[in-house]
Amino acid sequence: MDEKAIEDVAVKLLRMAVTELPKDVKKALQRAHHEEKSEAGKTQLTAILDNVELAEKTRTPMCQDTGVIIFYVKAGAKVKNLDTIEDALCRATRRATKEIPLRPNAVDPFTQKNSGDNTGRFLPFINWEITSGDSLELTVFPKGGGSENVCALGMLRPGDGVKGLKRFVVDTLIKAGAKPCPPNILGVAVGGGADITMKLAKRALLRPLDKPNPDPELTKLEKELYEAANMTGIGPMGLGGKFTVLGVNVDYAHRHPASYPVAVAVQCWAARRASARIHPDGQVEYLTHEAM
Ligand code: SF4
Repeated sequence: MDEKAIEDVAVKLLRMAVTELPKDVKKALQRAHHEEKSEAGKTQLTAILDNVELAEKTRTPMCQDTGVIIFYVKAGAKVKNLDTIEDALCRATRRATKEIPLRPNAVDPFTQKNSGDNTGRFLPFINWEITSGDSLELTVFPKGGGSENVCALGMLRPGDGVKGLKRFVVDTLIKAGAKPCPPNILGVAVGGGADITMKLAKRALLRPLDKPNPDPELTKLEKELYEAANMTGIGPMGLGGKFTVLGVNVDYAHRHPASYPVAVAVQCWAARRASARIHPDGQVEYLTHEAM
């Protein structure tokens, strides 16, 4: 697969993601705006929707924090030149930082020096998945710092069970309050280990809000968590109201008998993601946005 083509698609996806919300998120915000009863909450949702519209019209980032750049790559086992993709994504990140522009958000934790181009050790971060076939599915997921700061991992006791999980999710949200710029989307995962559960929780944020969980038991749990979260009254931007969250996506892994890890990945209203599939003949299918 052509390295330059991958780089170009990644730059386009970054531009799409930071300037235009995916349709499912926009629709959920519009619905929240329509149904929100609190005056302060409605005013915040009006401001958010105006901001979203303006960003789309002017093709400028919808938030000053354009996040840390994360990629999810589903690579067909027959894709050629897999070893060149990482470099292509790093180059795309540097280019996007200049061209869009993105805020430079990659800081060395020891020297506090900002690299200036959103790259650094393990950044952009790339999540790999090998699939069958010969196409490449690329997702960009720029993740804002405000919502990242309130993500939480709880190493619960197996006896705490699902009741404990629910309590942990709601406590996390209450503790977060206005910090993650609500209304939020929650990725929740249970099982695996400390690292596995957080990875699954974050990946759950990629599932569109209008795509149901394939597991009916998890759909039920998602609905319960959604209702509990929206009973907190935190509301849009923490100013009170019904819509503290737009959705909750749950995933799980089998666990060690002695462990019950639960992770909550918190996403802000600026729930940015964009995906495309690149075919071996170079054809590009944009999956979340209209081609720009
Ligand atoms: S949490 Fe999200 S909306 Fe709030 S400042 Fe950060 S990126 Fe922007």
